[in-house]
Amino acid sequence: MSTQLVVDVGDLVGHPEAVREVSGAVPVSLRLGDVTVKGPMEVEGNVIGTVDGVIARFRARAPAHFVCVRCLTEWDGDIEAEGAQHYSRVPDEDGYAIVDRQIDLTGPATDELALSMPAVPVCRPDCKGLCPICGTDLNTNPCDGHGEDSDSPFAVLKDLFDS
Ligand SMILES: [Zn+2]
Ligand SMILES: [Zn+2]
Repeated sequence: MSTQLVVDVGDLVGHPEAVREVSGAVPVSLRLGDVTVKGPMEVEGNVIGTVDGVIARFRARAPAHFVCVRCLTEWDGDIEAEGAQHYSRVPDEDGYAIVDRQIDLTGPATDELALSMPAVPVCRPDCKGLCPICGTDLNTNPCDGHGEDSDSPFAVLKDLFDS
C-alpha cells in the first residue's frame, strides 16, 4: 500500500478501456462538532481512462472519535465514504486536474469523508440523554423529573408566575 494517493495516469488518458487499481493511505485530520477524524485515511479504488482524462472511483475509510450529543458518551469507530472524481487537464470547480500526467486522490477522498461525518452523533437512536436538571444519565438511571422539587429552576419560575 502506497503512503500517498498520487497516481500516474499518462497512459490512461484517451484510452477508455484502460483501468488501474489504486490503494494508499494518507494522514487526515478533520473535525465537525463532536466528531473528530484523526489518523490515516485508507483509500482504495480504480482509475479508468476517458476520452479527455480519467475517472477515479474510490472508497475511503478513517478512524474517528465520537461524542454523543445527548449523553456525552464517547466511542471510537470508522467513517467510511465512497465517491468518484473526473479529472482532465482543465481544473474543475474544486481545482482538481491532471498535472504532470498525475492525479491526486487526497482532495476528493477527504471531501467525501468530511461529507460522511454525522453532524449530530448519537450513541444509539433511542438514547435518552442526560437529565437537564440533575445530569443523571437517563439511559441507566431513571430520574423522577423534579416535578415539585424546590431546587428545580422550573419551580422558581413557577413561584414567579404564581405570585
Ligand atoms: Zn447517548
Ligand atoms: Zn434529574
